Amino acid sequence: MKHFIKNITTPILDFLFTVHCPYCNKAINRSEYACENCKKHFPETAVVKYAIGGFKCASPFPYDERYKDAVTRFKFHNCGAYAKQLSFMIVCAIGEVYQGKNFDVITCVPMHKNALKQRGYNQAELLARECAEIMGIEYADVIEKFKENKLQHRIKANERAKNVRGVYRIPDKKIAYGKSVLIIDDIITTGNTLGECARILMKSGCKEVCCAALCTVTIP
Ligand SMILES: [Zn+2]
Repeated sequence: MKHFIKNITTPILDFLFTVHCPYCNKAINRSEYACENCKKHFPETAVVKYAIGGFKCASPFPYDERYKDAVTRFKFHNCGAYAKQLSFMIVCAIGEVYQGKNFDVITCVPMHKNALKQRGYNQAELLARECAEIMGIEYADVIEKFKENKLQHRIKANERAKNVRGVYRIPDKKIAYGKSVLIIDDIITTGNTLGECARILMKSGCKEVCCAALCTVTIP
């Protein structure tokens, strides 16, 4: 089957599977990452926010109406399709904010195995794997979420730090020891989750931790 798909020509693929713009859902050419109209409205500069602990996070989009819909479609309605197109923009933001910095490993904010079983995929992992491929950097599952907690967006801002404390761990410290690690998530809100992941990575011996997300909530 794989062999068959590999040999299908692009016009037939276009006919079989229509590609949509991840931001407005309009049909686009499969080699494009967005429609011309959405590209025109993309923010001119990347958004920078600092996760708790002072870890820098770069993202291409603010979490406003236009991009909220794109994230919701990606996360809940189309089983993680268009990870490649969305990741293209994350990589652009990484390039702009980190200016050619070398990362050794790319990883993601993990989900607990029960939540993963329920959704079937981790949207942050899909983005992280695509970013790693585009950037030519190794992807590795470095962090594990071993405890279930309340959903961050369902609790008050002042309870979020406590809610993420002690729910993540690094099962194999060798993978990222002494390395520069880039953690990818879909949305950075208060920065507690990314901050906690970065904190335990540093504690386990990473040289440096940076973050990137698809969208940034500018006013939490
Ligand atoms: Zn569009």
